[in-house]
Formats: sequence, C-alpha cells, structure tokens
Amino acid sequence: MAKAKCDVAVVGAGILGLAVAEAAARRGADVVVVEAQTVGAGASGGLVGALSPHAPERWNPKKAFQATALAEAERYWRGIAERGGRDPGFRRTGRLLPLTTDSARESAEARACAAAAVWPAGFHWRLCPPDAWSDWLDPSAAPTGMVHETLSGQIAPRRALPALVAALAAAGGRLWEVWPVAEIAPGRVAGPRGEVEATWVVNAAGLAGFALLAPLLGPVPGRGVKGQAALLDATPPKGAPMIFADGIYIVPHGPRRVAVGSTSETVWTAPEATDEALDAVIAAAARMCPPLRSAQVRARWAALRPRAPRPDPMLGPLPGHPRILAALGGFKIGFGLVPGVAAALSATLAGERHALPDMFSVAHHLDGRS
Ligand SMILES: Cc1cc2nc3c(=O)[nH]c(=O)nc-3n(C[C@H](O)[C@H](O)[C@H](O)COP(=O)(O)OP(=O)(O)OC[C@H]3O[C@@H](n4cnc5c(N)ncnc54)[C@H](O)[C@@H]3O)c2cc1C
Repeated sequence: MAKAKCDVAVVGAGILGLAVAEAAARRGADVVVVEAQTVGAGASGGLVGALSPHAPERWNPKKAFQATALAEAERYWRGIAERGGRDPGFRRTGRLLPLTTDSARESAEARACAAAAVWPAGFHWRLCPPDAWSDWLDPSAAPTGMVHETLSGQIAPRRALPALVAALAAAGGRLWEVWPVAEIAPGRVAGPRGEVEATWVVNAAGLAGFALLAPLLGPVPGRGVKGQAALLDATPPKGAPMIFADGIYIVPHGPRRVAVGSTSETVWTAPEATDEALDAVIAAAARMCPPLRSAQVRARWAALRPRAPRPDPMLGPLPGHPRILAALGGFKIGFGLVPGVAAALSATLAGERHALPDMFSVAHHLDGRS
C-alpha cells in the first residue's frame, strides 16, 4: 500500500475540490487531490455552466455570498486561465428572464429597486420590452416583457475543470485519479490504493461525501437530485444573454452551440440515463428560443446534484474535527459559488478566519437532520 504525506488532502476532483485545492496550493500548501474515478466524473462534468444569482429580494448572507462570488467570477477565472494556460470558457453573458403576466412584471420592477440596493456595484436588473431580443427569445414567450440582469455569467464545465487541473499543477499540487477514498479520519484519508497523511483533509466528494462523514458525525442525510441537460447545434445571436424560464436554462456556448437544462428529479432509478424528461426540456426551450427549433442534439447528459440536508451548501470545519473541512452541497448553484468557496476554505486551511455565512456551516446542516 502506498503511503504519502502532505499538508492538505482533498477528496474529490469536482469543481469544488479542484478549486479549493488550487487556492490552497497557490498559498503554498503541499496539496494532494485524490479522485475515485477521473476529473469531472460527478456533477461537475456537465454541459450547462450557468452562474446566476438568486432573486435580489429578502436579502440574506447566502445571497450576499453568492452575489460577491459572481461579481468576482471574471477576475477569478481569468486568474485560473493565466496560471494554468487553459481557457475555462468564462463569459459575463447576463441573463434574460421572460415575464408572462402583469403581476410578474410588477414584481420584476420591485426587484430592480432591490437589486440596485443590494447587488455589487456595476451590475443591474432592468426591464425590457417583449421584442428586445426577438431573434433569440420569442416575444410570445415574454408577453409582458423581460428582465435583463447583468450579474449572471457562465463557464463551460468541461473546459473549466481542465483549466483548474492545469492551474493546480502550476501551483505544485498533485492529482491522483482512480484513487477512491474509503475512510476520512483526522490527519488521514485511506482507501484500497493506500493512505495519505495530511494536516488537513477536505471532503469534496460530492454526493458520496455525505456517507464519508457518517463515521465522524453520524448519518448526514444528503441526497442526490437528478438533472438532465443537452447540448444542441444552434447559432445564438452574437452577445446573446442566457435565458432562464420555468426552471430551464438556455445557455449559448460559443457561436454554434447552445446548452439547455435541466430537469430536477427527486425520484429516479438510473442516475446517468437521459429520457423523455430531457426531451420535454428541449421542446420547451425550442418554443421560447427560435434558433433551437431546427437544432440537432449533439450531446445528452445526466447526473446527481449533491444536496446537503438543507438546500444551502455545506462548507467548513466538522464539529469536533476542526481540521477536516466539508466542501459539499453545491446542489444547483455549485459553479457560481466557486470563487467564494475557494477563497474562504483556503483561508481556513492557512489558519485564517474564513468569511462563510453561518447558514453554510456543518453544524447548521446537522441541526436540520431529519
Ligand atoms: C444537469 C445538471 C445541471 C447543472 N447545472 C448547473 C449550472 O448551470 N450551474 C451551477 O452552478 N450548477 C449546476 N449544477 C450543479 C453543479 O453541477 C454542482 O453543484 C457541482 O458540480 C458540485 O460540485 P462538487 O465538486 O461538489 O461535486 P462533484 O462534481 O460531484 O465532484 C465530486 C467528486 O468526488 C469524487 N468522489 C466521490 N466519492 C469519492 C471517494 N470516495 N474518493 C475519492 N473521490 C470521490 C467523484 O468521482 C467526483 O469527481 C448542475 C448539475 C446537474 C446534474
């Protein structure tokens, strides 16, 4: 059995594990990432990559953390690209939210005021007429107009993960694939391929990460919420913002591809299979978006989103085990949080105070166990 020593062992090479590992390595830590399969084998290996804020009313620490992370995204992903030499596909596209009733328009007007008060400077939430993007969002899908907000951005997940891997390597971090962890304990992680002794352990194993916590904390009822998405051959108008309506994202990826997703399924039998539920998402997207109407489907994909006991992310030290950190529960917003999660958890790993909201703490999630 192989034995290794390092400062920080990170379990899981999804977006959260890689981002925390890269930030810690950049601060000078000796980091090893161990991944059960290959990079992006879990929820992070998908097609959509929307980075979008929650609605700006009823502001709370979660929304503030997310908005700050989104505002930071451009600088963060540019840094990853520069340090590793690979493009993660970040673009500040903004987002259109079609409105279908007078009351939806009134709420959107109120939210414009809320966004002006609480969003980071320089980003806006504005109302536009139904035909503002008529070659992209069919005016009949937005009879009372649309919101155009500019805080949203996007990455290409299948480019962002290799970009993080390259930046991690450039910072001296090590990545071991096909290295499943069976046990996380204070000062070590172990599995069939060996053991890594580490001052700190970060559990970023996605959905499987909740079961890895059980020997330390008792049962942690995280769960998987299935999502299905597709990539279409379609030509969006130049500069087209992503669209979000009825739970569906339509995200342009370059001049010839558009991603659509996602289903949200709490009951499922085959986590990685796509089916007629995805066909319905594609059809609904095509009704809204003229360029999708004759589009060929290039790829279909499904995975389980890791949802913590509460719908919020689960981040930071475990109660009673201050040197084991959770980086779990990205659920539907994991990509957008990355700059904030990487900064906060790498600060903790460097012995500094972190800036995470209490509602993300492991203890808060354990209070919500059911
Ligand atoms: C269809 C779909 C669409 C989505 N769209 C978006 C979107 O547009 N925007 C957004 O922000 N979020 C989106 N999400 C959610 C997002 O994908 C997740 O929040 C995010 O990927 C979680 O990242 P993670 O690193 O925590 O988990 P994962 O990506 O699942 O990574 C965990 C890693 O740990 C590894 N692992 C597991 N067990 C072990 C073990 N025992 N030992 C070692 N390694 C292990 C896994 O193989 C995996 O690689 C979407 C999800 C789905 C399914």
